[in-house]
Amino acid sequence: MTNYQVDVLIQGFPGRAICHGGLGWSTVTLIRGQGKVILLDVGAFGMRKPLQNRLKDFQIKPEDVTDVILTHAHYDHIVNFTLFPKATIWMGEAELAWAGQQPPGFNPIPELYIQDLLTNIRVQRVQPDHEFLPFITSKLVPGHTPGHLLFILNNGETNVIFTGDAAKNRAELMSGLVVDTDDAEQSKSSIDLIFKEWRSRPDNLLIPGHDLSMRLNENQQPEYIGKRKAGIKVWFSETVETSETIDLSKI
Ligand SMILES: [Zn+2]
Repeated sequence: MTNYQVDVLIQGFPGRAICHGGLGWSTVTLIRGQGKVILLDVGAFGMRKPLQNRLKDFQIKPEDVTDVILTHAHYDHIVNFTLFPKATIWMGEAELAWAGQQPPGFNPIPELYIQDLLTNIRVQRVQPDHEFLPFITSKLVPGHTPGHLLFILNNGETNVIFTGDAAKNRAELMSGLVVDTDDAEQSKSSIDLIFKEWRSRPDNLLIPGHDLSMRLNENQQPEYIGKRKAGIKVWFSETVETSETIDLSKI
């Protein structure tokens, strides 16, 4: 018996542009059960069309979404909360307070969206180690940002662990090093906590912020589930009809 049906709508990608910064290709997950339709992280602007299509695949209208859970205050995880008019928005209290204190800067914090979240009556502030929705518990995993939360969904026989960017991808999990962290020591401790939770029950599923979902194999090493799908379309020709596709799935 599971408590929720968990479906990854958009699979995050472990990469960034060489000259143009972060791609913002982050994971968005749909969680249904207990009378709720939940989105865990909601992606960046560029993801709006694919997100709309994926919700249609599951016959979900924006107003059907009851809850939006946010891991941390970076644009590629949060800006689309505005698209779900009836949802309660769950965000770490310390993370939101920290983000609200940051002046506009050359960083991934969407300052105007944070200003809205600070005063939005639909926002519920989440404390660490709290079961704020049925079977869904928060843990503090600082490093990438100071108030970053991970979420553990008790799904009956196994847990699903949502790491956000506390560990963005398999490389960070395996090395214990996080690219773009505010505090490398804290990030290392957060990854230790992630493994402790991951190993707590066999077959626990880990869904990271920017990579495929993973399980631990018999040697307790992270192993991908499913196949990566990613690419870009480029217009290097002289007509709009002619474009090339560059496959990024095997890189
Ligand atoms: Zn981030």
